[in-house]
Amino acid sequence: MSDCIYLDYHATTPVDPRVLEAMLPFFTERFGNVASQHRYGRDAKLVCDEARSQVAALMGVAVEEVVFTSGATESNNFAIKGVAEAMAGHGRHIISCVTEHKSVLDTLKYLEKRGYAITLLPVDSFGQVSVKAVNDALRLGANGTDRTILVTLMGANNEIGTLHPIKAIGELLTKHDIMFHVDAAQTVGKIPFDVKALGIDLLSISGHKIYGPKGIGALYVNKCLCRDDICTIMHGGGQESGLRAGTLPVPMVVGLGKAAEIARLEINHEVEYLGSLRDRLQTALRALGGVVLNGHPLERLPGNLNVTFKDIDGDRMMLGLKNIAVSSSSACTSAAATSSMSHVLKAIGRTDDDARSTLRFGLGRFTTAAEIDQVIGTLVPIIERLRRTQMRLSQKQKNKFLTAN
Ligand code: PMP
Repeated sequence: MSDCIYLDYHATTPVDPRVLEAMLPFFTERFGNVASQHRYGRDAKLVCDEARSQVAALMGVAVEEVVFTSGATESNNFAIKGVAEAMAGHGRHIISCVTEHKSVLDTLKYLEKRGYAITLLPVDSFGQVSVKAVNDALRLGANGTDRTILVTLMGANNEIGTLHPIKAIGELLTKHDIMFHVDAAQTVGKIPFDVKALGIDLLSISGHKIYGPKGIGALYVNKCLCRDDICTIMHGGGQESGLRAGTLPVPMVVGLGKAAEIARLEINHEVEYLGSLRDRLQTALRALGGVVLNGHPLERLPGNLNVTFKDIDGDRMMLGLKNIAVSSSSACTSAAATSSMSHVLKAIGRTDDDARSTLRFGLGRFTTAAEIDQVIGTLVPIIERLRRTQMRLSQKQKNKFLTAN
């Protein structure tokens, strides 16, 4: 893999070597079960407590508000199904948005089949949902099953990097006392994000998006919520204060904690570093002309660049990029083996043809300026060559038409 440049950090990140080092002893000599009363168990409990406070510090929440899960998919399922079941007697209406991750959209579809009313809000051409649209969609009846019980939105989009106006939506929902869940798999650890200041009740994160291991994540559950507000979806041994049963995977928990600590300490530097590398790539590609930016020009993740190369044969372009790992759609969506177009690109008005010649660059902690220059040096001539071929072809077609007429 060493000859391949990795620019797919939204799909997953490598484990930071400092994270791996912290995890290793917990696979072998320090392998205790948190529930055990002896020294091994106490050791495991201590390090999991430390990891919980590291995750809490990154989010800006209290330690007891962090529940470990297997990742953001589980956290999203837990938040949405957990609230839906607990609140069913008060209301059965949930609001979300068309560009959410499949782990949210499919969970909502599941609930819809079981009698819940789901409103999926549209986005503007930058991929942002408006506060007004959320406000207009709220069903505030004092009682009855029609009432809105939850709004669930992502902090940052995994394809185009656009940030939703979370603060303003949080304020609106606090005013109406409606629960707010944020899928922050691509947000927390990527940009400064102070959960307590944003009026959020539930928030999902994932270890493998922030240089931690796969198979671990967390759900923040606001301590103001009570057991009547959210049900568990994982029953068993009563771990995580009865909210999520299952033996804690100690090495993964330690890894998530260390990853959170590094992210918290390095986030300001990383935002600046990735933003400048991304801008360098963006400037070089947009100089080609006919390159359309997908996503918001300002309100977006620093490590994201999603662009459409107009009138380019996407398959030919990809052929030239064998040694560059970029995504031509969302990795999470392609796992479902669908050849259909990205629902996010569709929502912001791109066509099927646009989608075929669209690339998502995801820059991350280990991306270097030399790699970005190498990508520019590879991609620019490919686009120029494909454009020339395209021009020759259309000229030929024009000539043919003229001679035929
Ligand atoms: N939400 C978003 C926005 C994501 O990008 C992803 C992963 N691509 C998930 C949820 C699912 O996360 P996990 O892989 O931890 O289940």
